[in-house]
Amino acid sequence: MTGKPDMRPRTLVVADVGGTKTAVAVVRARPARGDAAAAPPPPAVLRQSVTPTVQSSSEACLASIVECIGAMVSWVERRGGGALDAIAVGTASMVDFAGGRIVASVNLPLRDVPLRDLLSDRFSVPVAIDNDATVAALGEHEFGAGAGTREMLMLTLGTGVGGGIIAGGRPYRGASGAAGELGHVLVSVEGPPCPGAGCPNHGCLEAYVSGTAMGAAALGEAQAKPASSLGRALLAGEPLDGALLTRLALAGDPDAVALVERTGEYLGAGLVTLVNVFNPEVVVIGGAAAAAGELLLAPARSVLAARALRPQRDEARVVPAHFGTDAGIVGAAALAVTELF
Ligand SMILES: [Zn+2]
Repeated sequence: MTGKPDMRPRTLVVADVGGTKTAVAVVRARPARGDAAAAPPPPAVLRQSVTPTVQSSSEACLASIVECIGAMVSWVERRGGGALDAIAVGTASMVDFAGGRIVASVNLPLRDVPLRDLLSDRFSVPVAIDNDATVAALGEHEFGAGAGTREMLMLTLGTGVGGGIIAGGRPYRGASGAAGELGHVLVSVEGPPCPGAGCPNHGCLEAYVSGTAMGAAALGEAQAKPASSLGRALLAGEPLDGALLTRLALAGDPDAVALVERTGEYLGAGLVTLVNVFNPEVVVIGGAAAAAGELLLAPARSVLAARALRPQRDEARVVPAHFGTDAGIVGAAALAVTELF
């Protein structure tokens, strides 16, 4: 290879395929190669749409994804002013990145689908696909809270707990693309069954810090204390989920604050293992539960400081994610600029 890297901004169609919604967008993004000290500006979103993910069959789901992407490709062609450079997709699936295949999915009817070749044959541009948690980590590493680092972990606290690993400045995917399941580190051998689909373990981090786990803890508290804010919410028929718990905690409700702090301590206990093993510069915490901010992160940092090894515990910064609901779109753009140019 000779000459300078080509740093001109690229026009990309990106997609974030989740179990509930599929977001697609046209973005302009600049590659970051050769400029590791500073993050490039985040991708500029030129056009975006969100549709419900079709769950009725594999064929219908795939047809809908291709149609949504096709609509964005057509928009780029009609708009003029530069051709489409690439397509990138993050999907809630186990993905064989090198083979460009969706291997299996829990919340999507997609299994053994050669999505990369299907899209590149159809639209005649380079295509990259990867798991949505890895894609979110790439987005934070390229454009967000992990920019400028070489060793980064990301945990996405949603319905489950997603994980992504950046090692030596590159995503770490493991032998078959299944690496990075950081939500399944053990925090208690005798703990409750893991709510993660397909996980036979007990006491995984996900059993304590996922939205599902936070909702279960809130329900337990509501039943034990009917006169509390959580108890009154239960009587009023409100869904006792992580979002309600976070909202009450941010409003200063003492029971909710205590539950979020305890969740943060379990998060810290999981981080002890992860930080000891990976020695990251930064651990990025994203997802809906991260909306609790310092209420969640401060107890996690305290446990990490008290229980992890040196120098790892001194070197790992635990920070909130930069991107929220747009993490999938930004991450897919990062996937394209890091893997295709
Ligand atoms: Zn598990």
